[in-house]
Amino acid sequence: MDLLHQFVFSNTPIRGRIVQLTRSYAEAVQYQDLTVEGLNLLGEALAAVSLVADSLKFDGSVTLQAQGQGKISKLVAECHGGNFIRGLAIDNEKVKSSEGESVGISLISGNQLAISLLPKSDKQMQPYQGIIELKKEGLAQSLSSYFKSSEQLLTSFVLTCSNGKSAGLFLQKLPTNEDTSSLNDDFDDTWNTLNILAGTVTHDELTSLSAPEVVRRLFHEHQHRIFEPKEIKFGCRCSSEKSQDAVILVGYKEAIQIIEEEGTLSVDCSFCNKRYEYDREQITKIFARKADISH
Ligand SMILES: [Zn+2]
Repeated sequence: MDLLHQFVFSNTPIRGRIVQLTRSYAEAVQYQDLTVEGLNLLGEALAAVSLVADSLKFDGSVTLQAQGQGKISKLVAECHGGNFIRGLAIDNEKVKSSEGESVGISLISGNQLAISLLPKSDKQMQPYQGIIELKKEGLAQSLSSYFKSSEQLLTSFVLTCSNGKSAGLFLQKLPTNEDTSSLNDDFDDTWNTLNILAGTVTHDELTSLSAPEVVRRLFHEHQHRIFEPKEIKFGCRCSSEKSQDAVILVGYKEAIQIIEEEGTLSVDCSFCNKRYEYDREQITKIFARKADISH
């Protein structure tokens, strides 16, 4: 079972989270044709969105997305409904080989990644989108710097993924109402110490030990409490309705032409490989409905 644990430290407004993904990660990447670097980058991104989504405690979606001309021309990692993840990436190295020894984040050109928070209902919070500058140190550093420089809560990430195992460790300053300016020096010291300790965790520890054991090993000198975990699963949110939007993008003439040639028009979900098929009658209905709406 893939789990996400939350823990808090005593006497300081800092909380942490650990997520460990094996099965859900394998299910999320099974339809993606990726190089090892692409698989690892997507794994780190899936761990990151799980951590961010849990910290927000809302029933919407958190998405990291990049698009460009790099070796990875598209990357999408999403956590929705609190504990479902899905992701996709297009890895051009699989299509044509290219020289250069780029690893990790430099696979994405444009050096930017978008983070979007889409609540299920806008009563909860407004939709939000931010642009993350990618750093060559990797996704975790890029996210930590983004949260530090934006209006968001002070947050830091350790992310790791290889050999089919992805995991993330996240530390965050809790929002406080009191004026803690007199405690700031103490807080900064504690924050720095906990981050240095978090930074010493290895890939093997973070992916193979239980989260309570990782927390015990890293932070044994700091009093803490760890909570019951929640399960993270692979889950898609594609639907017949959304696939019809893709049919409309094809255009009526082209859709009919495909049906004449192939018998049906099919739309495959890039996240879960589910196939939605349409015949001539259904295509006519879809476009008739579209015409109704636009008039
Ligand atoms: Zn799907």
